[in-house]
Amino acid sequence: MGLRSFSDPAKLYGLNVWGERNFVVEDGVVKVNHGCKPSLVSITKSLRESGYKGPLLLRFPHMAAKNVRTLFEHFERAKREFGYSGKFKAVFPLKVNQFPGFIIPLMEATKDLDYGLEAGSKGELILAMAYTNPGSPITVNGFKDREMISIGFLAAKMGHNITLTIEGINELELIIKEASRLGLPIPKIGLRIRLHTGGIGIWAKSGGYSSKFGLTSTELLEAMELLKKHNLTDMLSMIHFHIGSQMNNISPLKRAIREAGNIYAELRKLGAKNLRAINIGGGLAVEYSQKDDLSSRNYTLEEFTNDVVYLLKEISSSKGVKEPTIFTESGRFVAADHAVLIAPVLELFSQEYSEKSLSLKKDNPPLVQELYDLYRSINEKNAREYLHDALDHMESLLTLFDLGYIDLTDRANTETLVHLIIRRSIELLRDKPSQEIKDVLERVQERYLVNFSLFQSLPDYWGLGQSFPVMPLDRLNIRPTRSASLWDITCDSDGEIAFNIDNPLYLHDVDVEKEEYFLGFFKVGAYQEVLGMRHNLFTHPTEATVNFDEDGNFMVENIVEAQNILDVLEDFDYDTKEIERRIRQHIEESSTIAEEERKEILGELYLYLSENGYLRTINFNE
Ligand SMILES: *Cc1c(COP(=O)(O)O)cnc(C)c1O
Repeated sequence: MGLRSFSDPAKLYGLNVWGERNFVVEDGVVKVNHGCKPSLVSITKSLRESGYKGPLLLRFPHMAAKNVRTLFEHFERAKREFGYSGKFKAVFPLKVNQFPGFIIPLMEATKDLDYGLEAGSKGELILAMAYTNPGSPITVNGFKDREMISIGFLAAKMGHNITLTIEGINELELIIKEASRLGLPIPKIGLRIRLHTGGIGIWAKSGGYSSKFGLTSTELLEAMELLKKHNLTDMLSMIHFHIGSQMNNISPLKRAIREAGNIYAELRKLGAKNLRAINIGGGLAVEYSQKDDLSSRNYTLEEFTNDVVYLLKEISSSKGVKEPTIFTESGRFVAADHAVLIAPVLELFSQEYSEKSLSLKKDNPPLVQELYDLYRSINEKNAREYLHDALDHMESLLTLFDLGYIDLTDRANTETLVHLIIRRSIELLRDKPSQEIKDVLERVQERYLVNFSLFQSLPDYWGLGQSFPVMPLDRLNIRPTRSASLWDITCDSDGEIAFNIDNPLYLHDVDVEKEEYFLGFFKVGAYQEVLGMRHNLFTHPTEATVNFDEDGNFMVENIVEAQNILDVLEDFDYDTKEIERRIRQHIEESSTIAEEERKEILGELYLYLSENGYLRTINFNE
């Protein structure tokens, strides 16, 4: 990686590792690898020309639908290969992305499959009841009260194929009560099992004995007794586990399947004759890495499906039970690819250091003079040496400033000259990749100020250190020369994606006063939107959906603009009328504003209140 692989720009940004063939680089731009292959930068520019400034979230529903199909195809293939007689079914877990711009097209595009929704709360259950195609499965996990269970009964009455997975004996008792109160039909019952096998990684609390969820062996036996006593054994149809999200290693899953397979066989022996499904939860990992050797998972989808099918076949045959329906709740795998965050670069911090800003004196301190001479005479041969000299001189000059020997003008000249030398030497050395230039790039990074909020749009980067693929949308036929760290526009020092030498990001040296430069953050479609928070009152970015028709033409639809400032304040339960009244009053009572200016100032403020809070960049076409 690094500068050497520039001959292939797609490779430089690891598109071959994380891209899933959803994007291609052609003619120096990133294109959607579908239909007429529109470039992301052209979609972005056309939206900006319609007045949507600030960051954008682009949705590509075809990518999520493709992932669902891939999942079904792989399981069907594995079933054929191993001669497996059980069925395969799946649901999308709503907690991963509940937004209408995602869910509605997903359910529409997968109508022909046995694909439904998983709900973990009352709100999600209502969504599942509205958007699951009739006959397709609904599963309900998480803690439930009587009310939630009643909603489940109503869903069953509506004809939904719904399974309530109980997390504890008390939930089963509630179901039994509701059954005698409401009568048939009743939802199918699932049991979440508490595995001996531990969960994994940062989500370890989802599985294992210390897990927040699931029934122990003793409780499973107790549940069977209860079911029998109330003649409900026939409603037990599924056992369920979920060992955690983004599992990087497949072995805990294999152990969990073995355990679950044996529990399944035991429960069937105890008389659960309609127990047909093993629900293996989610956890299927997404490749977020931009480097081959930093891969996020140690298995392919093929291995994953083969392992699940093979193990369940083996257990069923050794225990002499029917091969179970395999049920999955993969969320991240389905949703992550479909959304791309596009954010404009507002500023390169070192760009303020231009030759114009030099104000050399007649008599400069010797080291400043020397820096100037270095800058004047730097060439390809001496660039490396001069760069080192410049960095050394800067250290000395800053010390001299601290000691009071040079003044602020000298210090400003020092900073400017050193940055000019850095930029010049990187340019001169660009075709000579070497360890040394890499070392230099590591030392002298450019800070890119990017118009987005990390807390709003990439919360898992902030919370969990989860990195997302990032690359510029254009100039991909030009070698990027700057090692980059990215800064968001919140006032929080955590709002930074630092340069990481193990996973370096190189960007172009652009003059953002003259040209636009956009970064794409990919695979942000799972968990980020709903976990995003309004730190500094930055709301969700403007979103738009890119759809393709049968001829491959694309349409940008369903534009949801970022909330304006007043709407955000209203969401925080401010009385916005009161805010407006107070501002008007302050203006009217102000002794510094002349009577005739008041109206104009108020009008101007109203205009700002009706816009979103992201920074506005210059539109170069205006
Ligand atoms: C969160 C969750 C999922 C989804 O997990 P992914 O890692 O996104 O696939 C599935 N099932 C249950 C019970 C969950 O809580």
